[in-house]
Amino acid sequence: MDAKEEIKSRLPIEQLVGEYCQLTRKGRNFVCVCPFHNDTRPSLLVSPDKGIAYCFACQTGGDIFNFYQAIEGVDFPQAIKDLADKVGIVLPKERMSAGPKKDEKERIRECLEAAASFYAERLNSSNEALAYLEERQMPESIRKEFQVGYAPDSFSETYDHLLKAGFSKTEILQAGLAVQKDLNDRMHDRFRHRVMFPIFDHQGGVIGFGGRTLRAEDAKYVNSPEGPLYHKSAALFGLSHAKEAIREKRQVILVEGYFDVLACAKIGIKNVVAVSGTALTEQHAKLLKRYADTAILCLDQDRAGRDAAERAFHILVKQGMQTNAVKLSAKDPDEFVKAEPGLFLQLMQDGGVPFMDQLLEDMRQDPSLTSPQGKRDITEKFLTFVASLQTAVEREEYVQKISQTASISVTALQSDLQTILSLGHAPKDKKKDQEPHISIDKTPFSRMELCLGLAMLYPEQRTLLQELITPERKEYALLYDMLKNDATSSSTELITQIDIPSETKDWLTVLMLFCEENFGSWSETVAGREFHKLCKSTNKEIVLERQRRIIDQLKLARVSGRIDEEAQLLTQYNQALKLAKMAS
Ligand SMILES: [Zn+2]
Repeated sequence: MDAKEEIKSRLPIEQLVGEYCQLTRKGRNFVCVCPFHNDTRPSLLVSPDKGIAYCFACQTGGDIFNFYQAIEGVDFPQAIKDLADKVGIVLPKERMSAGPKKDEKERIRECLEAAASFYAERLNSSNEALAYLEERQMPESIRKEFQVGYAPDSFSETYDHLLKAGFSKTEILQAGLAVQKDLNDRMHDRFRHRVMFPIFDHQGGVIGFGGRTLRAEDAKYVNSPEGPLYHKSAALFGLSHAKEAIREKRQVILVEGYFDVLACAKIGIKNVVAVSGTALTEQHAKLLKRYADTAILCLDQDRAGRDAAERAFHILVKQGMQTNAVKLSAKDPDEFVKAEPGLFLQLMQDGGVPFMDQLLEDMRQDPSLTSPQGKRDITEKFLTFVASLQTAVEREEYVQKISQTASISVTALQSDLQTILSLGHAPKDKKKDQEPHISIDKTPFSRMELCLGLAMLYPEQRTLLQELITPERKEYALLYDMLKNDATSSSTELITQIDIPSETKDWLTVLMLFCEENFGSWSETVAGREFHKLCKSTNKEIVLERQRRIIDQLKLARVSGRIDEEAQLLTQYNQALKLAKMAS
């Protein structure tokens, strides 16, 4: 057995997927809400028998390696390395050392990591920085855990250090650690006299920095610029530290600043992240959705913080996340932890209240609710939040609640809500199609593939393959012949036996998962009828495609005056026409 198969045999697909998603049993399979696209319904199918997890809505998934690559955003060599570690297999040496030379990104990451070590080391020699962290009540253990450092008060110390460590000028520039205004200008360290927070990606590699100044007149915070590794719209401070805790609780606490994350860590709250230098984006939300179902907004308690929370709500809810809020009687989590650590811990354990309830409470207490104009403005704003909710049940619930709070009729509110919903971003309630009917647009498969899938699924119907034109693709023609002469083997047996490339086998396995899920419960009569219809439409498609191809070739032959070829093509065209008559 090669390493890949060995890992597969030790790590069942449902175990791996279960680490990221909440699985529910469904017959022989499991289902869960797909972590790869925005959905509230369980569209990711996990098949222990087949060893695959696949979402047919966004067409993502495959075996454990495909799934891991997709969810962790890594390439295959990284995936096989990580999963081998996970199940305790030592990979053969050549696999580890082989591979491309260190690329540009890897060098930049090394440069950032060298800078992080340099800053961390420098911290101990700066009394000013240590005193500042002391004042902010950050113990050494937490400083070390987050690799907090200090960028010296110099224009070139960091740059010189990195040059000496073997990094080129270009690499240091690309890492965002130095600034150069024009070609004649000297290189300057970007971060000077600042307490430094390395920002890690979700895998724990340094991608950038946030620096808090120690000088009153400078900009309070400076962040790394966008670069090959650092994208502020995707970076979340603290995620690599918080990942496990978030996954365990299926819950993430969102705060605003570096010190808020550290303050939480100080009192043992681990599932906390902060966006750095930007508002929460859709990308952030998608990243969080991989690990959590619930987000608890614990942002600054000022006007800006409230606005940020409102924006974050729309974004998180759109990704299908339950969004809660916590009200603090202090400026931010950091201050609150300093004043009342026990109470803060309790509040976080309680997990806050639904953001919508918090909003409703604020609305109740708003003095302008007493004037007609105020009432109109407030309810109108509230309805835009209701419109973001993903299910009709939730929308209904909050329409009822505002109706009571503002004494406005449900009918009037509902009509306003409809207007808002029809204006844009409204979530749609999809109707379930109960008719046994194959709608080709909703599958990632061709008609021919579905024909073969149905034939594999319903052995008794395989005689109907006589009606189907032989597929042109070699692998499928082979399967087609096998199926015509085999009225008993199961799809798994057939896929194992057939001599075709493994990628095609993998794809056929995905096809079978789809067919079993969608067409598996049919009676033989329904199966026969649907299969017959599908064969007809597949033939029609094949013939049309052939005719189109011949016509193109004919045109070409005519233009270049190749008479013999033209005659030949005409014969082919007539054959195709005959075939079309037979098939219809
Ligand atoms: Zn999906």
